[in-house]
Amino acid sequence: MAENTEKTLAQKLKDELFHKTKNAYDVLSDEVIDAAYAYAEGYKKYLDLGKTERECVTESIRMLESDGFKPYTFGMPVEVGGKYYYNNRNKSLSAFVIGTESLANGVYFTASHIDSPRLDLKQRPLYEADGLGYLKTHYYGGIKKYQWTAIPLALHGTVITADGRSVNINIGEDETDPVFYIDDLLPHLAAQQMKQPLSEGIKGEQLNVLSGSRTFEKNFPEGIKLNILRILNEKYGMTESDFITAEISVVPAFKARDIGLDRSLIGAYGHDDRVCAYPSLTALMEVKNPVHTTMAVLADKEEIGSEGNTGMQSIVYFDIIKDLANTLGVSEIVVRANSKCLSSDVNAAFDPNFPEVSDKRNVCYVNNGVVLTKYTGAKGKSGSNDAAAEFVAFSGKVLDDAGVVWQTSELGKVDQGGGGTVAKYIAKMNVDVIDLGVPVLSMHAPYECVSKTDVYMTHKAIVAFFKA
Ligand code: MN
Ligand code: MN
Repeated sequence: MAENTEKTLAQKLKDELFHKTKNAYDVLSDEVIDAAYAYAEGYKKYLDLGKTERECVTESIRMLESDGFKPYTFGMPVEVGGKYYYNNRNKSLSAFVIGTESLANGVYFTASHIDSPRLDLKQRPLYEADGLGYLKTHYYGGIKKYQWTAIPLALHGTVITADGRSVNINIGEDETDPVFYIDDLLPHLAAQQMKQPLSEGIKGEQLNVLSGSRTFEKNFPEGIKLNILRILNEKYGMTESDFITAEISVVPAFKARDIGLDRSLIGAYGHDDRVCAYPSLTALMEVKNPVHTTMAVLADKEEIGSEGNTGMQSIVYFDIIKDLANTLGVSEIVVRANSKCLSSDVNAAFDPNFPEVSDKRNVCYVNNGVVLTKYTGAKGKSGSNDAAAEFVAFSGKVLDDAGVVWQTSELGKVDQGGGGTVAKYIAKMNVDVIDLGVPVLSMHAPYECVSKTDVYMTHKAIVAFFKA
């Protein structure tokens, strides 16, 4: 007997009128899902090579140069189809391709960030206490301090030695390297600690990194400290004074790994926001001979307010656009007015373990695609860019036309908390901008989690935007 598959009027109307959210696995073909898994392999390598903004700049330049991008200096001539990158102090990067149409029609660019929450060594970090050698830290960005204890840590950074050499430090990533460690209290003696609120259980001045325990010479005062310095001196030529100029960060020593039996998720340190920086780069390289001039900005210091000359508030990013306008003989004001930007940053995925912090009807879900975030902010959208309806419509249409799975989200329910992105600093320059990025579980933790389909949809979304 034939089944009656005729839809009722109510069903037809519902299909027509209701908004539907989609899970990528329900709507994508096996080919696209396979492509997403293959794409994740390159992304994981990028994560392992770039645990600081400096390392991300180095690896990004390597990728760009192998694709034919050339270093850009202010005032240099540029040609249509030309591919360039501007290295800002080895800590941020703007890569761009000159479009076939006039620059006056605007630059289509993404702005993501390549700094992540971490612990920075203080300027006089090294000390010895009760038979152990430690490095003092000052945390960078928003962290839950207790998460950084009792896990393997690595040292990454740059030291400028007295003779002016710049030396890169990387200890704890190679399988044969030692790692570092922040000790925590055993549960047996933690009765008082366990009664503290989570924010107080481990305090900032307790984030001291265990770095040695063997004296250089028997019965010698500060022999452990001396021994640590001796090793650093032999390996890197540095002295204790060189810590003053150094930028050394303590980051988790974990490698990026697949999570889950189905390998559908990626665990790593620093998804926020390399999970948007990497797709921005791969999209920029994929879109050959763009019509508009396309650009991927990889900014620094987002996690501490986008400050400084490498943060998104720096004029340097718009100096590049101004300089291109001068070179190509068009008005910088017109270029900015016609430019469009995806502020490419992560959002908080709905977490079934903590459902109470989100509005289930207005949150993003893992595997439901790239997230378009109209507004962020806190306490009544304060501090938010809040993209205009017209630009949300433009962005949504670009994604729909390209078959990208996407969703919308707020960061938590009303008055739960909040946060911001670089979007507002770009909007200030009279550029249309909206946030777009990847849903993340455990954002800002030493090991964060994203889904492979969401990462790939972000790449696809940025490709579509660059071609729009
Ligand atoms: Mn971010
Ligand atoms: Mn962040």
